[in-house]
Amino acid sequence: CGIVGYVGAQSALDVVIAGLKRLEYRGYDSAGVAVLADGGLDSVKKAGKLVNLEKELVGHPLPAGSTGLGHTRWATHGGPTDVNAHPHLDNAGRVAVVHNGIIENFAELRAELAERGHKLESETDTEVVAHLLAEQFDAASGDLAEAMRRVCRRLHGAFTLVAVHADAPEVVVGARRNSPLVVGVGEGENFLASDVAAFIAHTRSAIELGQDQVVELRREGVTVTNFDGSVATVRAYHVDWDASA
Ligand code: GLU
Repeated sequence: CGIVGYVGAQSALDVVIAGLKRLEYRGYDSAGVAVLADGGLDSVKKAGKLVNLEKELVGHPLPAGSTGLGHTRWATHGGPTDVNAHPHLDNAGRVAVVHNGIIENFAELRAELAERGHKLESETDTEVVAHLLAEQFDAASGDLAEAMRRVCRRLHGAFTLVAVHADAPEVVVGARRNSPLVVGVGEGENFLASDVAAFIAHTRSAIELGQDQVVELRREGVTVTNFDGSVATVRAYHVDWDASA
C-alpha cells in the first residue's frame, strides 16, 4: 500500500518511518522496514499499525544504516500476519523487497522456485520476487538494477517494487508497472515512494517513474531505465504541494 526507500546520510530508519507515517491515511494492516549496515541486512515487520512496528523495534533495534526501505501492507494474498508482512527476504537474508499491487503469475513462479530448492515462508504473491532477485543478482554479477529488470520481465500484473541487497550497500532499486512510484531527488540523498507525501519534508524535486521502468538510486544520482535496459529520459518537476495537507 505505502512504500518508502532511502539512500543518503541520514538514518534510513528515521526517514522511512516518518515517510510511512505520512502515508498512513491510505489505510494498511501491517508494516515493516529493512536497513543495510556493515555489509548486512536487518529487517523487522509486524502486523497492525506502525506503533506496533515501533514497539517491536524497541526490542529488536536495527543497526544505524543510511540505506533502507519500508512498507505498509494492504493484504491481497495471505492474511495480515507478521510473516506475510513486507519486506520479504530471500533464503540467505541478503535481499529485501517490498511490493504494492498483485503479481498475477506468482503461483507458477513459486512452483519454479520450489523446484530449484527455494523455501518460501509466506502466503504472499510478493515473496517470489525476493527469491528471483537473489538469483538474478548473482547472475548479473551484483548489478541490482539489471537483476530487477530481468525479474520484472517475468512478472505479470500490477506492481511497484523497491529492493535492497546487502552486497550493494548504497543502492536502492525500484520498478513499476500499473502502480505509482516517485523519486525524490535530494542533495547527497535520494528517496523513493509510492506518493510524494512520504518525502516532501526533505525535497520538492521529484521524478515520476514511467510505465515499465526501473530506477537505481545512489546517494549522488538516479538512473532510470526501461525494462529492456534502454536508458529513459527523465525530467524532475517541482512539487507544489502544501506539506501540512
Ligand atoms: N499483494 C501484496 C500482498 O498481499 C501487496 C499488497 C499491497 O499492495 O500492500 O502482500
